[in-house]
Order: sequence, then C-alpha cells, then structure tokens
Amino acid sequence: MNVHDSEKMLGILDKEGYSQTDDPRKADLIIFNTCSVRQKAEQKFYSDLGRIKAYKKRSPTMRIAVAGCIAQQEGENILRKAPYVDFVFGPQNIHMLRNLVSGRTAYIATEDNPEIAKTDLPVKRADGVKAWVTIMYGCNNFCSYCVVPYTRGRERSRPTENILSEVKGLAEKGYKEVTLLGQNVNSYRSDTDFPGLLRRLDRVGGIERIRFVTSHPRDLSEELINAISELSKVCEHIHLPLQSGSNKILNLMNRGYTFEEYIRKVSKLRGKVPGIGITSDIIAGFPSERGDDHLQTVKALKEIEFDGIFAFKFSARPRTKAAGMEGQLAEEIKSERLSQILMIQNEITEKKNRFLEGTIQEILMEGESETDKGKLTGRTRTNKIVNIPNPNKGVEKGSLMSVKITKGRQHSLKGRPI
Ligand code: SAM
Ligand code: SF4
Repeated sequence: MNVHDSEKMLGILDKEGYSQTDDPRKADLIIFNTCSVRQKAEQKFYSDLGRIKAYKKRSPTMRIAVAGCIAQQEGENILRKAPYVDFVFGPQNIHMLRNLVSGRTAYIATEDNPEIAKTDLPVKRADGVKAWVTIMYGCNNFCSYCVVPYTRGRERSRPTENILSEVKGLAEKGYKEVTLLGQNVNSYRSDTDFPGLLRRLDRVGGIERIRFVTSHPRDLSEELINAISELSKVCEHIHLPLQSGSNKILNLMNRGYTFEEYIRKVSKLRGKVPGIGITSDIIAGFPSERGDDHLQTVKALKEIEFDGIFAFKFSARPRTKAAGMEGQLAEEIKSERLSQILMIQNEITEKKNRFLEGTIQEILMEGESETDKGKLTGRTRTNKIVNIPNPNKGVEKGSLMSVKITKGRQHSLKGRPI
C-alpha cells in the first residue's frame, strides 16, 4: 500500500513537471514515505532523516517532506525534531501534495479525509506488467496491536465504476496483472461487494491475472471462495493473516475468529480451489503470550503448512490497546520465539516448493531476475517466484509461459520453459 501511495505521489509530481532522480544530492525535493506499523521502520526513518540533513546544508533550496503513517502520527512533532523538514502530510492527504510543493497551503496536512475514496489521483507506475489498484482505504477493525486505523482512518470503499475504469485503462496500456489493495478487501462494499467486484473485473479483456491483499479471516465468505474457484483470472493465492494459533491471544488481539474457525476456512479454500497457495502473517511475543500459546502457534504452522509467512516480533505502537496491556515480554523471548517460528516455516516452505518439482506451472514473465543474474523470472498463479534460464531469443516481458519446475528451493523455484 505504501509503494502504491508513492506511485500516486510520483503521479502528482509528474504533472507538476518534476522528474525522478536516484541521486539525493541532485534532488529539489525529497519525500520520505514512512511506515509506522512496527517501531523498527520508524527508527530506520529517523536515522535516514538525520543523514539527509547534510544534503540540505549543501543545497539550501532543497525541500524535504515527510509523508505516510509516521507523518500522520507525529505531525508537527517531526518539525520540532527536525526543523529542516519543509512539510508533512499523511496518507489521507496525498491529494494535497500539489499545493504543498507550490507553497500554496499550510505545511502540515494530516486531517481526516472522508472524500478519499471518491477522489482518484494520477498514478505513475514503474512496472509495465503488474499494477497495484486501490479498492479501499483505511480500516475499522482495530486489532489491538495495530496502528493502521489511527493513521489511515476509517474504512472507505472506492466506487466500483472508478476501479473498473482504472483497470480497463491499465489493460489498454498493456498491463497483464492487477493486485487489488485494501486492509480488509473482504469488507469492500460500494455498488457491489468484493466477490461482485471480482466478477466484474474478471471480464476486463487484456488483464490475465487478478490478485488481492489483504483478506481478513473473519470476513472470508463462501461467495469469495466460490469466486476464486470459478473466475479464471483470479489467481489461486490468498494472503490470510492468522497472527497466532492461540485462541486466548487471538481474542486479546481482537481478531474476531478462533483458530478452529480459521482452519475451517482453510479447509474450504483447499477443497474448492485445489493447489491454492496460502500465505500468512504471524506475530511473535504478543503481551501475555505464554510458552504454551507460542507452542499452539508452532503447532498451527505445522498443521496448516502455509506456503510462506511474514513473521514479526510484537512491537508496541502508540495509542493501540496492546501497547498498554499487562504482560509485555522481554525482547529476548520475542526474538527466540520469532526465530523458532521462522525456522519451522522455512522447512515447510522448502518442502512445499520441492513438492512442485516435475509439475507444470504457468508463469507471467517479469524480466531479468534481480537475485539470480542471467536468469529470467516470473511468478506462478500461486505467487511463487520461478527463475528460468534466459534463452536469449527475446522472451517478452508480460507474456504467459508454461514451465516445468526442476527444483524447489526455500525462496524460489527453478524451472525450464516447455
Ligand atoms: N490489514 C492486514 C491484516 O489484517 O492482515 C494487514 C495489515 S498490517 C499493516 C500487516 C501485518 O503487520 C499484520 O498482519 C501483522 O502481522 C503485522 N503487524 C501489525 N501491527 C504490528 C505490531 N504492532 N507488531 C508486530 N507486527 C504487527
Ligand atoms: Fe491492522 Fe487489523 Fe486493520 Fe489489518 S485488519 S490493518 S491488522 S487493524
């Protein structure tokens, strides 16, 4: 979501006559698009911000802006901590960027913006094959650990027609894949609901693949499972954050489901969408998590066998309920539990990837691999990275290709075109 917000900022600046540079010393304007979901991201931002001060000293006309969720949370405090910052705007106020750069408005924009879903912004995308498309803004869930409802505001769905016309425009420009973005796409509601939106988008000619993030397990409906199973362009992958295997912790997290309910949904998904890739998020060391709660998460990982997870140490975030809960755990305990979770999942991921050896998969060609030099790379419909040898006869970026998987590794697969 942050990456896509940056694309919107670039879209606005492009129209104002700005062009991009990778060299901060040459920049007239530097924008930090920040994340505050965990403290680590925040620390990293402040140290980068400190570093950039020297650039501004050398070229005093340079302007520095702070955007994103830290901007939203800290507002004027940022200017107090770093007086060399010129303006600050939150994720609900990206539309203000035009006025902010021209100096036509105050230098802090962090108001709630109820119109956000109706006001489309220009987008400048770096990739010509895959595109992020926002379908909803904000979040109403208030999971007890999460800062997002405080920074991105209330949940607001974008009108179906606007989404449809953006996706049609992308297809005309040659895009092949769209990923629909929202904190909780399953609660999308505008002229239609989320399965209805998928059905409308599935008919857009030229688009080959439709993905979406993120699904909240509580709101994952039978209709959505049917839509994934029936619609040919909707990929067989779902990111379904479990967070914990312990019902006590899930309850404290305010997630609104039990482990048993979660697992029933996973079984339904696997029953109706054979081979579906399921990935998840896990938080290690939530307040009052005891050894046996952690073991239930470990057991859950072994039982479900996700295709991959993102796992994080619990990080206390300002204003959230969990930050004030009793039973905050020591960093060492959180780290120990996190590394155990990652070790177990790594084995599972590798095993699942090895299981695909010998199968034939469709990949969407993305170009040269960044990690495996000289190889081409693409993703399966289940969202796994496949690297293939470069045949040197101009494989077109954006083409769909059948490959035979020759090796399954921890982070990617190897294949050969057939
Ligand atoms: N809306 C999505 C959902 O409900 O799954 C995810 C949004 S959140 C920005 C992405 C992930 O960050 C969450 O699934 C959670 O695992 C993790 N996360 C959020 N707040 C956290 C915190 N305070 N400490 C550690 N991890 C956190
Ligand atoms: Fe945060 Fe929960 Fe909303 Fe996801 S659903 S953004 S974790 S509050």
